[in-house]
Amino acid sequence: VEGHIGDFKVGIKSASGSETLEVGTIILAIGAEEYIPHKFYGYDDNEKVVTLADFERMSKKGELKDVKDVAFIQCVGARDQDKTYCSRICCNVAIKAAIHLADKVAAGGGGGEAEAPKAEEPEKTGGRKRRSRRRRDGAGAGSAPSSGGGRANITIFNRTINAYGVHHEINFNTAREKRIKFQKYDLDNLPKISAAGDKVKVEYFAETLGGWRDMTVDMVVLSTPLVNHPEAEGISKLLKIPRGAEGFFLEAHVKLRPVEFATEGVYLAGTCRAPADITEAVIQANAAASRASIPMAIGFVQGEALMSHVNQDICVGCGTCTTVCAFNAIQLNENNKAETITAACKGCGACASVCPQKAITMTHYSDDQLLSEVLACFEEVKE
Ligand SMILES: Cc1cc2nc3c(=O)[nH]c(=O)nc-3n(C[C@H](O)[C@H](O)[C@H](O)COP(=O)(O)OP(=O)(O)OC[C@H]3O[C@@H](n4cnc5c(N)ncnc54)[C@H](O)[C@@H]3O)c2cc1C
Ligand code: SF4
Ligand code: SF4
Ligand code: SF4
Repeated sequence: VEGHIGDFKVGIKSASGSETLEVGTIILAIGAEEYIPHKFYGYDDNEKVVTLADFERMSKKGELKDVKDVAFIQCVGARDQDKTYCSRICCNVAIKAAIHLADKVAAGGGGGEAEAPKAEEPEKTGGRKRRSRRRRDGAGAGSAPSSGGGRANITIFNRTINAYGVHHEINFNTAREKRIKFQKYDLDNLPKISAAGDKVKVEYFAETLGGWRDMTVDMVVLSTPLVNHPEAEGISKLLKIPRGAEGFFLEAHVKLRPVEFATEGVYLAGTCRAPADITEAVIQANAAASRASIPMAIGFVQGEALMSHVNQDICVGCGTCTTVCAFNAIQLNENNKAETITAACKGCGACASVCPQKAITMTHYSDDQLLSEVLACFEEVKE
């Protein structure tokens, strides 16, 4: 990527070749990746221990036909087990997958063959009523299904469930009505997983009973957090945009400028910013598109009153100023002389303070002007 707001040149490589696009603004939406839990619960050794994404893929391919009893383990690798943060979506995704499995088993199939239901499709008004009636009629995973299915035995081991928002809360209630069990664990007593023939044994500390218990399941599903995209570091350097402590991109201001960077003309949306569900990612995408369209609709950018000016006669092209500018607003031209991009300069003065040649002056803040101010100040003190 080269250039600045209103005049970016973006090189794109794809399977069909490479091309350069000229664009006015850039929206970053490269997403995030699922954490792979190599060091947790025998994930690398036991094929019956899978991640949520593995489980969804297997379900879609119809590979879970014989699977009825499943233990989900939440927060694997999250909340101080490697990563520090709560990934926000994995409780909801696990609950969705558990409900899907319970319904499939109750309908007489295993956990496979059909598309997973869309978690973002909330039950419409009246859902509560319908669920009450179902429960009265004895439907759900824990009851005898009308079509001759069985009952799934599903337990979600968790440290607390994060099912925020109305839709996810409704799904959480639905899961409990379907007799999906929620068993708490803490970091001092993590569940233990071991192979038991073609099944998996789960040992867990039952807080209310004050002792260890065990169960045997067909499969263990590990709910792992979203982690920053592997290319995030490179893209951050390319666009000179910051990342937070966990590697996700950092917006200019969490409340006032949540979908843009300090660098003019670059915006962001979705899980490259932080874990989010689809609804949130789409809302952010709309906001980013809307923000990006403003300078494009106006057609010009108003420069700051205060900005840097390079005296090219004394610039030696060392490039120091280009490395300190946090806004990508100063670059070396074809003559190897520094040049301010007036549309992007924020007038912070960082470049002027590091130039070894004193080749950069800030508008209204030349050395002569500043010295005059200081001298005038001392004159006043003398009087
Ligand atoms: C297992 C799992 C299940 C989930 N289930 C649900 C659910 O049921 N409901 C829900 O609301 N949310 C769910 N989510 C979360 C959901 O996936 C995200 O909220 C959503 O995908 C975020 O959208 P996004 O556009 O930010 O990122 P993504 O959907 O990941 O899209 C990013 C895109 O950028 C592309 N890309 C990456 N790098 C580059 C590059 N260098 N150049 C060009 N393109 C690039 C990628 O190929 C991809 O197409 C789930 C997540 C996981 C991991
Ligand atoms: S499993 Fe739930 S509580 Fe744990 S990190 Fe994911 S969303 Fe947060
Ligand atoms: S730091 Fe000064 S001398 Fe070096 S490139 Fe920038 S303006 Fe030129
Ligand atoms: S004044 Fe600040 S924003 Fe402007 S070019 Fe110098 S370092 Fe960059």
